[in-house]
Amino acid sequence: MNKTSWHVLSNGEYLTASSKLAMALDEADAVLIGVGAGMAAADGFTYAGPRFTQNFPEFIETYRWLDMFQASVFEFENLNEEWAFFSRFVDLNYMSQPLGESYIRLKELLKGRNYHIITSNADNAFEKAGFDKNKVFDVQGKYNLLQCSKGCTPKRYNNEELMKEMIDRERSMKVPDDLIPYCEECGAPMELNRRNHTDWMVEDEQFFSDQKLFHNFLDSYTDKKLLILELGCGYMAPQVIKHPFQQLAENRQNALYMTVNLKDYRIPPAVRKRSIWLQEDIRTLLENVQKEQQIIKMKTYETEQ
Ligand SMILES: [Zn+2]
Repeated sequence: MNKTSWHVLSNGEYLTASSKLAMALDEADAVLIGVGAGMAAADGFTYAGPRFTQNFPEFIETYRWLDMFQASVFEFENLNEEWAFFSRFVDLNYMSQPLGESYIRLKELLKGRNYHIITSNADNAFEKAGFDKNKVFDVQGKYNLLQCSKGCTPKRYNNEELMKEMIDRERSMKVPDDLIPYCEECGAPMELNRRNHTDWMVEDEQFFSDQKLFHNFLDSYTDKKLLILELGCGYMAPQVIKHPFQQLAENRQNALYMTVNLKDYRIPPAVRKRSIWLQEDIRTLLENVQKEQQIIKMKTYETEQ
C-alpha cells in the first residue's frame, strides 16, 4: 500500500468538510479518535459563560474567577471551601451532565466500524451517550473518582454519594468537616482523579486495563488504513493526544491524520501530506455527515426498489 491509497487525499480537494470526513470514515479499516475540550464545548459543555456564572455566583463574587478552569486550579485556603467548589463542579461536569447530541451522532457514525477513543475530557459524556466503555480510554482521569493526593496507593474511589451529601450540606461556600475525605491508608487529603501540573495522577488497575485495550487496538491495525481523527484537541496539553497522534501518523505510512479544529494548529511537515485540517464546528460537522449518510442510504434504497 502506498501513500496515495486514500482517495480523500487524492480526489477530495473540492469536497465539503462533511464529505471529506464521511469519505475518510468509509475508506478506513479502523478509526482512532482523540477527543478534547473542543468536542465538549461543541455540545455546550464549556468552562465559561452562563454554565459557569450560574453555578458559582458567590465564588465568582469572592474570587473574581474568569472561568471554571481557573477555579479548578485555584489554591483554596481550606478544604471545606475547596470541596464546596468541587462537589458542585463534579455535579455539573459529571453527575448532572446532560446528554450531548454530538456524542450520540459520533456513536451513530462509528456503528459497525473498528474504532477506539482516547479522551482528555474527564466528564461523563461518553458514558451518558452509551459508548462501549472498553472502547474509550480516559487518559486524564475521571471527575467521579477520588485519589489520595500523595498517591500512596494505586486506588481510585467513586465519589458520587459523597459529592451529593456535600452539596446537600454545604453552607456559605463550605462543607462540614466530617465530609472532608482523607486517605484511608496514609491520612492525606483526597482529591479528584485528574492529572496535575506535573502530569501525575493515580492510575489503578482499571486505568491500566483501559490503556492495554487502547494499545491492543493500535497494534491490531499497524499495516491497515488507519484514520487518526482528532476532535477538538487544542494546545492545553498537546503531549496527551495531539503530539502522539502526529507521531503515529508520521510512523505509519497508511495513516491519515484528520484534525477538526476551528484554530489552525501547526502540523509537522512530515505528516502534512497525509493530513486534512477541517476548520469546522464539530457539532455542525457531525450533523452534516449524518445528513449526507441518510441521503446516501435513501438513494441506495430507491435504487434497490
Ligand atoms: Zn494515601
